[in-house]
Amino acid sequence: MFEKILIANRGEIALRILRACRELGIRTVAVHSEADTEAKYVRLADESVCIGPAPSSQSYLNIPAIISAAEVTDSEAIHPGYGFLSENADFAERVERSGFVFIGPRPETITLMGDKVSAKDAMKAAGVPVVPGSEGALGDDPKEIIRAARAIGYPVIIKAAGGGGGRGMRTVHTEAALINAVQMTRTEAAAAFNNPSVYMEKFLENPRHIEIQVLADAHGNAVYLGERDCSMQRRHQKIIEEAPAPGIAARLIARVGERCAEACRRINYRGAGTFEFLYENGEFYFIEMNTRIQVEHPVTELITGIDLVQEQIRVAAGEKLRFKQRDIKLTGHALECRINAEDPYKFTPSPGKITGYHPPGGPGVRVDSHVYQGYTVPPHYDSMIGKVITYGDTREQAIRRMSIALSEMIVSGIKTNIPLHQELMHDARFVDGGTSIHYLEQKLADQTAAKVK
Ligand code: ADP
Repeated sequence: MFEKILIANRGEIALRILRACRELGIRTVAVHSEADTEAKYVRLADESVCIGPAPSSQSYLNIPAIISAAEVTDSEAIHPGYGFLSENADFAERVERSGFVFIGPRPETITLMGDKVSAKDAMKAAGVPVVPGSEGALGDDPKEIIRAARAIGYPVIIKAAGGGGGRGMRTVHTEAALINAVQMTRTEAAAAFNNPSVYMEKFLENPRHIEIQVLADAHGNAVYLGERDCSMQRRHQKIIEEAPAPGIAARLIARVGERCAEACRRINYRGAGTFEFLYENGEFYFIEMNTRIQVEHPVTELITGIDLVQEQIRVAAGEKLRFKQRDIKLTGHALECRINAEDPYKFTPSPGKITGYHPPGGPGVRVDSHVYQGYTVPPHYDSMIGKVITYGDTREQAIRRMSIALSEMIVSGIKTNIPLHQELMHDARFVDGGTSIHYLEQKLADQTAAKVK
């Protein structure tokens, strides 16, 4: 096992990784920007190194500074968390070339799965069902593009091969709008992702977002750890996640889960990963793979009893997976609400000083957050300040516990989306389960319309 790990991230996930390391008896190095000097996890870490000014381009994305920090602290491995450099193949390669272990898949795998076109091809080859779409990236010939869209059938969605974070996508309903939409997505993709390649998919009208968690070691073993339903989204960003997905038969999940585990073996996958699917009319359609730990990993941890971050570290250290597929048992139900520093209805970010903080507790309640009373949420990063996760024997119990937890939680001095989550816990359609990815946007639009009237 490693003796010392450098955590190349910030916020709640830096604290989450730190806790996993402490439990495994591994010493930690926190790297931080000038804006995060006062963060609690920085103090809790055995060592800390300031890697640059507040803007992430100069700190959390500053590869030479992070590698130097690993060198001066004699770290053995680097955990990238999620976001920032976690899916950057160049970073993974430079980490390994400098003699450290990258806690994640091999750089080649990140490259393969980071390009959504090559990822889809690899999945098709492994028998994973994918969204019907263009054969690979779109070429320049408008006639070909029009032909492809007709073959798929409108509406279609144009997506950037290098896209991420819900950006670089455009839905097209008519042929008249097609070519312009392709051009615009290309231009945006070139600017945002440094990759102008775009592809086309059938736009699924009312799907749910269902994803499968996998874990693989460097010895050819891979398992799937059930599914998560992340359909409650706004602007393609998840806000509530749960496991298992309400109303989807376990045998359907098992069938697609087996394909995902098989795909991992074929591509020599190593570490934790997630296969994201859209699910409509009883069918799964692969959209992309995330080659890292995800924000929503705790719901899977609660229903499997497996610490995913610790397993990531064990696998990176060369250990074999400690369980086989038949050892994995899913029990109960877990929900996660992402708590964001933002206006609950206008969604404008609300950074600033937290003057009062009271996290919830009690049976089946977990809070993953790095904030505390007196903490200042910096304006430079993502607005998520933590996650409330609840567990129950049934979905009803998990919802009730979440509702109580949210009502106990106090975060004052800044605005948060807690009121929106509270409302959703009492929303009849959410309580029924199985809403589509458009449900929240539709509900918010209806509320705005009602106010205008
Ligand atoms: P990103 O990497 O930016 O997260 P994804 O490919 O995972 O992009 O898609 C993000 C979200 O966009 C999905 O969860 C879904 O809401 C929507 N989406 C993507 N592809 C389609 C599609 N073919 N049909 C309908 N919605 C889609």
